[in-house]
Amino acid sequence: MKAIDLAIGGKSSFSLVRPPGHHAGPAYGMGFCSFNNAAIEAAYALQKMQRVAIVDWDVHHGNEIQGNYNESDRVLYCSIHRYPFYSGIGSIKESGTGKGEGYSVNIPFPAGSGMQLYSRAFNAIIIPALKSFKPELIIVSSGHDALSDDPLWGMKLHPEDFGNSLRCSPTSHPFLLYVILKEDMEGQMDWLPEKSLDKRRRIRITNRRCVFG
Ligand SMILES: [Zn+2]
Repeated sequence: MKAIDLAIGGKSSFSLVRPPGHHAGPAYGMGFCSFNNAAIEAAYALQKMQRVAIVDWDVHHGNEIQGNYNESDRVLYCSIHRYPFYSGIGSIKESGTGKGEGYSVNIPFPAGSGMQLYSRAFNAIIIPALKSFKPELIIVSSGHDALSDDPLWGMKLHPEDFGNSLRCSPTSHPFLLYVILKEDMEGQMDWLPEKSLDKRRRIRITNRRCVFG
């Protein structure tokens, strides 16, 4: 909640909660998740604003984030994940229901996918969807199990990919420039020094609101 308040106040923020919790339902745990942190953060933010986007790049689909907001047009949920895979849902055909039709964006990838495919997904699907939706806040459900040296899940990302995929041109990726985090498999985190970003990017960063959860 503090991270949301900081973001609403214009400061980048990082919720150090592991895992993001995207499998947990309202009254039950699932897939090692007890609390659905990203969904809870979104619910809290929606008390203060109209539109929140959640970008989820964990290798698993966030079944209960989608489940929570499946009928909502106030939350845009974008997920890149391995499919078919646990938790069993997340096909491209699942796009929301009722008022929420079109507000769930699922991008299923096969095992072995790497940054080339992820970049295409961001450029062709996620960034345009965010631009169209115009979220007041972006929550990044930042699972890191798509890394190439994770022995269990079979994707081919590298730590720097998480930052590089989003730390792009301000004109084409205006909403995601807070994403400047790198993390290795031991959970060591390394913020890219702000001076490594050009002046225009720093200005954009200070004007955008994004939360990792
Ligand atoms: Zn996962």
